[in-house]
Amino acid sequence: MNNKEILNIQDLHVSINNIEILKGLNLSAQLGEVHAIMGKNGSGKSTLAKVIAGHPSYTVNRGNIFFNKENITFEEPEKRSHKGIFLAFQYPVEIPGVSNADFLRLAYNSQKKANNLSEIDPLSFFEFISKKIQLIDLDTSFLNRNVNEGFSGGEKRKNEILQMGLLNSKLSILDETDSGLDIDALKTISQQINNLRSHNKTIILITHYQRLLEYIIPDYIHVMEDGKIIYTGDANTAKDLEKYGYEYIN
Ligand code: ADP
Ligand code: MG
Repeated sequence: MNNKEILNIQDLHVSINNIEILKGLNLSAQLGEVHAIMGKNGSGKSTLAKVIAGHPSYTVNRGNIFFNKENITFEEPEKRSHKGIFLAFQYPVEIPGVSNADFLRLAYNSQKKANNLSEIDPLSFFEFISKKIQLIDLDTSFLNRNVNEGFSGGEKRKNEILQMGLLNSKLSILDETDSGLDIDALKTISQQINNLRSHNKTIILITHYQRLLEYIIPDYIHVMEDGKIIYTGDANTAKDLEKYGYEYIN
């Protein structure tokens, strides 16, 4: 394993309700890299994202997931999050009765606490987050609203990117962050994601449109089919896929 390797997935087999979805998937990513994962609907992209984050509905039958050289295959999702794995869901959940500001502060403080760092009080946090939220072109009134409740598709996406920036995770996985975005929101979000790129972070972008990858140029593009990565190419792969379709890979 290389020194800068943050994620290493070996021969991963995963099932849900006894149906095998991932069928021997391998993936390696280093710090500083952006990886895009593309592939048809149903190829297993969201399953992969959720399994890396530790979603309890999935069963790992074979293979391993190493994060920062540590085997996390059966680690609790909270622990993974504290270690620096962030997942922006394809379908973010609404949390009635919990204000967005409280939710963000609790997430932020729970990560600080897990890493023996000092927590931040509500007033200071509000000041801090109010500045961050402007960067994604979202009104500060969204901090007082319940988490994702009544947010439009684009607003939910922006809220996920806000969380991503806040948690400052080593590995961020964004599942179809571009879906349902108009062109202005896509540009704002892409710009934020590009700002969050750094030599000590890794981003995995799941998308099935080339459009996002015009704004965020990945280092690698992987194509999934039937629970496996069947092809890995560079940023140009997206253009070829757009032109010739997924059949081009075969
Ligand atoms: P993608 O994100 O690439 O569109 P998913 O990972 O969401 O694909 O789904 C991969 C496959 O797993 C699909 O065929 C889907 O129907 C199946 N699947 C997902 N969740 C379940 C479930 N709870 N029970 C049975 N099959 C499921
Ligand atoms: Mg999906």
